[in-house]
Amino acid sequence: MPRITAPALITLVSAMFEAVGSSGPEAARIASDLVEANLRGHDSHGVQLVPRYIENAEAGLINPNTQPSRVGGEGAMAVWDGGMGFGQVVGRAVTDWAIETSRAQGMAMFGLRRTHHLGRIGGYAEQAAAAGMISLFFVNAVSGRGVVAPFGGMDGRMGTNPVCIGVPMAPEPIILDFATSAIAVGKVKVAFNAGKQVPPGVLITHLGEASTDPAVIYGQGPRGALGPFGGHKGYGLALICEILGGALTGGGTNQPQTPNDRGIVNGMFGIMLDPARMADLPGFAHEVQAICDHVRASAPDNVLLPGEPERRTRAQRSGSDGIPLDEVTWGDLAVTATRLGMPEALIQAALA
Ligand code: NAD
Repeated sequence: MPRITAPALITLVSAMFEAVGSSGPEAARIASDLVEANLRGHDSHGVQLVPRYIENAEAGLINPNTQPSRVGGEGAMAVWDGGMGFGQVVGRAVTDWAIETSRAQGMAMFGLRRTHHLGRIGGYAEQAAAAGMISLFFVNAVSGRGVVAPFGGMDGRMGTNPVCIGVPMAPEPIILDFATSAIAVGKVKVAFNAGKQVPPGVLITHLGEASTDPAVIYGQGPRGALGPFGGHKGYGLALICEILGGALTGGGTNQPQTPNDRGIVNGMFGIMLDPARMADLPGFAHEVQAICDHVRASAPDNVLLPGEPERRTRAQRSGSDGIPLDEVTWGDLAVTATRLGMPEALIQAALA
């Protein structure tokens, strides 16, 4: 399995986005956010997405070098239009606005519509937490036919719709960040690429029968679906993401009248708040620490806090051993880089 260090991967991927029209800083932003997802162990949201992003940019579905524009709301409540720019740039800009607004007014609430894929949502919660802010994000994803079946349903009708909540805490924040599908659809692709099965309880075939075969989604046959995580509870959260992230923001939900041929379109509803405006900050920090210590003491070697698995993986993958990429992901990346005219030396240098 190829292993590539984060800086080498960022250099290559950045050059690829510049080749489809992104400015140097934009290309670097997209590349470093995608590689950050790999570093944190979410290969589903890492560089395996690059060929798809590039194809969408080439097809005119993404507008490079586009910043979000404020199209509604007043004061601390805003509606943003992402102009179908790269989500990594649009999402960071809107998060910056929410941080500044929370600092000035105590809180911010926003809807973001018409942005290309926002990637790993935890990155925005980390950005907020680094500024001392609590953040909540509800996201819907419209990308082709819905892939997540409702609880009790037979076929895909919603996106993988992530929910993410971040809480600043010393020395590291709590970052709860997950798809409301049983697993992220990108993880089904990672399993398909690697020729592996997915755990039971995740997939159904087009006939509604349980399956562990990722070909149910990525094979040539009739398409099955992912189930929601946590049965009726995850299904409910996925539906709320459609409502808040899709309907409320004006971006559109996965119902059939919404066009679903616009690449990977995310809608995001976000709430941010400065804990210092609601609570006595030292008291809040003490209480958060106390409950976390209490929870962890249940089985100190086993219990982790949300965000901790990602930090552990990051520590492993940041070293000289680098990031392991499966052969299909690396192959697709190299083929796309060659097609874009990247020098072979640059591609091979990534592997060195
Ligand atoms: P996951 O199932 O790996 O869950 C991750 C969350 O669970 C993290 O908060 C992690 O810290 C926590 N966690 C994991 N193991 C833990 C443990 N033992 N103890 C305590 N906490 C633990 O994540 P996922 O559902 O596969 O989602 C992966 C990524 O995909 C997320 O970053 C999400 O934002 C992203 N995503 C994005 C979109 C989009 O449209 N942009 C859609 C779906 C998912």
